[in-house]
Amino acid sequence: MSEAATRARRASRQVVIGKIKVGGDAPVVVQSMTNTDTADIAGTTKQVADLWRAGSEMVRVTVNNPESAAAVPRIVEKLAMMGIDVPIIGDFHYNGHQLLAAEPACAAALAKYRINPGNVGFGKKRDSQFGAIIEKAIEYDKPVRIGVNWGSLDQALAAELMDENHARAEPWEASRVLREALVRSAIDSAERAVEMGLARERIILSAKVSGVQELIAVYRDLALRCDFPLHLGLTEAGMGSKGIVASAAALAVLMQEGIGDTIRISLTPEPGASRTQEVIVAQELLQTMGLRAFTPLVTACPGCGRTTSEFFQELAKTVQEHVRAKMPEWKITNPGAENLSLAVMGCVVNGPGESRHADIGISLPGTGEAPSAPVFIDGEKAMTLRGENIAQEFVAVIDDYVAR
Ligand code: SF4
Repeated sequence: MSEAATRARRASRQVVIGKIKVGGDAPVVVQSMTNTDTADIAGTTKQVADLWRAGSEMVRVTVNNPESAAAVPRIVEKLAMMGIDVPIIGDFHYNGHQLLAAEPACAAALAKYRINPGNVGFGKKRDSQFGAIIEKAIEYDKPVRIGVNWGSLDQALAAELMDENHARAEPWEASRVLREALVRSAIDSAERAVEMGLARERIILSAKVSGVQELIAVYRDLALRCDFPLHLGLTEAGMGSKGIVASAAALAVLMQEGIGDTIRISLTPEPGASRTQEVIVAQELLQTMGLRAFTPLVTACPGCGRTTSEFFQELAKTVQEHVRAKMPEWKITNPGAENLSLAVMGCVVNGPGESRHADIGISLPGTGEAPSAPVFIDGEKAMTLRGENIAQEFVAVIDDYVAR
């Protein structure tokens, strides 16, 4: 772990979800969400299992109709039969009060309920429907996440605050007032749940928006005004590099300030791409910030005109994929392997230096260099690899180091 690290974590209560602790002194937890139809029991079970294997410590599923609510206990049962003990969180909007009442087995099987106060109803209806979900949480002794969202903000509250602040004509002021509406919606809803009898140690809050600066501002406010643990995520972050960069930019600033107890990276997957990418990005964000370690990370140079081929890029990829694939096994047989640092470098300019800083590093031959690749272990030159099998031999060196 990095010692030049973040500010002290914001003090928060601890909420236990299944066997996972969120907040307090617990490490920042990685979570994800399925995109299957939850009523598709086989498909959803498989995706939850994939996300869990990738490292998701909690998985949220959509519960939007009677079929999906009926499927939840069967999914949880199937996962248990596969030896997978991951908390499943039900994501409710609009009709959560009805579904939890109609499907007691779903209410019991879920490890947490996510409630969006912006769409549980309006006026008195909102109070009674929100209250009905909280009553179920109390009855089944479940934690809840009160998750407000820019895109489904309680319109009555937003309009009331706008009127109070005469903010409609001023875009900057309007934006500030909308942020206030988000924060107040989350905190007021939590306080209402507490008044109804839900323990404070059963509540997590989130207030998601899709803009980086707005998200930072909203969470700074939220963090100052309550001690509930906070779930961080940039909602609707987008596809590919944009989604990754925007999420990392926002969440890194907040976590650097000690804000955030659990994170989700909400990426729009490329068609056909694996859902697990969001878990890997979340883990890499936490690990590169020095907050947690999940799998050995590979330091690699970008390459330049001094590299003679793409071999070193391929080797960096092979090494990263190898250690990621081995990590589930190493977690059991060689705990601590996740802290290993590896370097794959393209030439002698920075190769030996960077390789010496890593636990294991290799400096491949660049243009004009001798066709040999020195390997450094614990800062010392340990051997030189040559020939066709450098990749296999280097991977064997890593496996041997971990085994020792
Ligand atoms: Fe280029 Fe060598 Fe630097 Fe890699 S280490 S970027 S190959 S000069």
